Amino acid sequence: MSDDCLFCKIIAGDIPSNKVYSDDEVYAFHDISPAAPVHILVIPKNHIPAVIEAGSQDEGLLGRLILRANEIAKQQGLADDGFRYVINSGNYGGQTVSHLHLHILGGRQMTWPPG
Ligand code: 5GP
Ligand code: ZN
Repeated sequence: MSDDCLFCKIIAGDIPSNKVYSDDEVYAFHDISPAAPVHILVIPKNHIPAVIEAGSQDEGLLGRLILRANEIAKQQGLADDGFRYVINSGNYGGQTVSHLHLHILGGRQMTWPPG
């Protein structure tokens, strides 16, 4: 928990969110400003500022984060048509919230390359 972190406050329930999934180590909720018909953020409950700062102790957690995201993607009906995962890191990566998060984006055709 980081006192000045928006997503830690969401995990703690101090800031409301539209929850999709929660377990001991992972929380998922709808993005407040959706960039696609389905836009869900999947985050570790442990405060990791960015994916680049994850360490060997986070190896299992990162795997489980993706597996939980897969379950959510299936539950949201995204598996057949496809979807996109995004993890932004740092300034050039477009990261705006300094708590590691995996975006699940689906429900429309994605384009490449990203802007
Ligand atoms: P980033 O740009 O860091 O990869 O993604 C941060 C995401 O968090 C953005 O898509 C933004 O819309 C979302 N976001 C920012 N503040 C809030 C909030 O208070 N609640 C929710 N649910 N999403 C937020
Ligand atoms: Zn945090």
